[in-house]
Amino acid sequence: GHVDNPYVGAKGYVNADWAAKAAAEPGGSRVSNTSTAVWIDRIAAIAGTTSAKGIRAHLDAALAQAAGGTPVVIQFVVYDLPNRDCAALASNGELKISENGLARYKTEFIDPIAAIQTDPKYDSLRIVNVVEDDSLPNLVTNLNIAACAEANTSGAYVQGVQYALNKLHKGNIYNYLDIGHHAWLGWDSNFGPAVTLLTNAVKGTTAGFASVDGFISNTANYSALTEPNFTINTQVGGQSIRQSKWVDWNMYVDELSFTQAFRNALVTAGFPSTLGMLIDTSRNGWGGTARPAGPSTSTDVNTFVNNSRIDRRIHAGNWCNQSGAGLGERPRATPATGIDAYVWIKPPGESDGASQLVANDQGKGFDRMCDPTYTGNGLNGNNLTGALPNSPLAGAWFSSQFQQLMTNAYPAL
Ligand code: BGC
Repeated sequence: GHVDNPYVGAKGYVNADWAAKAAAEPGGSRVSNTSTAVWIDRIAAIAGTTSAKGIRAHLDAALAQAAGGTPVVIQFVVYDLPNRDCAALASNGELKISENGLARYKTEFIDPIAAIQTDPKYDSLRIVNVVEDDSLPNLVTNLNIAACAEANTSGAYVQGVQYALNKLHKGNIYNYLDIGHHAWLGWDSNFGPAVTLLTNAVKGTTAGFASVDGFISNTANYSALTEPNFTINTQVGGQSIRQSKWVDWNMYVDELSFTQAFRNALVTAGFPSTLGMLIDTSRNGWGGTARPAGPSTSTDVNTFVNNSRIDRRIHAGNWCNQSGAGLGERPRATPATGIDAYVWIKPPGESDGASQLVANDQGKGFDRMCDPTYTGNGLNGNNLTGALPNSPLAGAWFSSQFQQLMTNAYPAL
């Protein structure tokens, strides 16, 4: 049967492919038994490759991890829309809208995934799909970028997501859509339109609101779960912290407050009150020696925020292999009101993108937001990128990042 929250009373699937890489790092066995998501990031990932298991092999391994009647929850990221990652280059994909990409997405990607996931052999598993992260939020904020405009006017993103939700609809399958993160959709001018777009997209599926179980924030990002030293209502020297350069008039300062508010707005828009949220806490710990011990005593609003915030990024729009980040909250169910679980969707240690051009056959490009020498653009307030140097292709193992994530873990390991 379909439970309200698939994480309650379940054991998280451990991906042995990821666990082996983590365990091979000095100190890695402290976290290698953590449940992380399996990314289906290209057609070839469905069957698997010599170095990574395919979907069936993962589901069979998940069955083998079930013990004593406790169900296993296994998480997949369904990630191959045509014009994928339209506002950036590092995770561009193999399918293009102009090359019949939507039709190929349906028949060569979603249909075979659905055929495997709906096999009755796997009925005892709870299968979670994070469907196409970054896609619909890009239609809210990035229509000035040609690949996103094409994704919008062609209908490919909305139709692709709806097709996936229709095909991946079954009692033991749980689908979550992406809501970006607070420093993307947290401004009123983005928040409201995102709620409307997501609501209409889900309403347009065969099962309507029943085709999704919830939404996820902070996927593969670094935004802090909570900023312990200030809230959105904090005043400094007679000024709101919203006026600081860092907050920049956003309505939220962290992921938990943003995600709970987004849930409330979706319920107001018509979603059932059973709606549950996920937050990717794999890399938003921000511990280590640079973590402020408490609020600053400065009466200058910028100094106060910069010396109080635990998120140590140069700019909250920076997203690639962020220097100083740490592992965040370990995955767990029902951690806060309205939140189904904290989850590790981005497998820690896997790169966000290469710091220089790397030839590949996956469609991935070189995004200068992954280059630590790049001085930025409008998307990060023309700041340095804060990316770690010498990073490999998106998805490839990045040992030095994994080491830093362990060093700066919060809670500490
Ligand atoms: C990459 C995918 C990879 C995923 C998880 C994404 O940025 O584009 O290929 O599977 O990260 O590491």
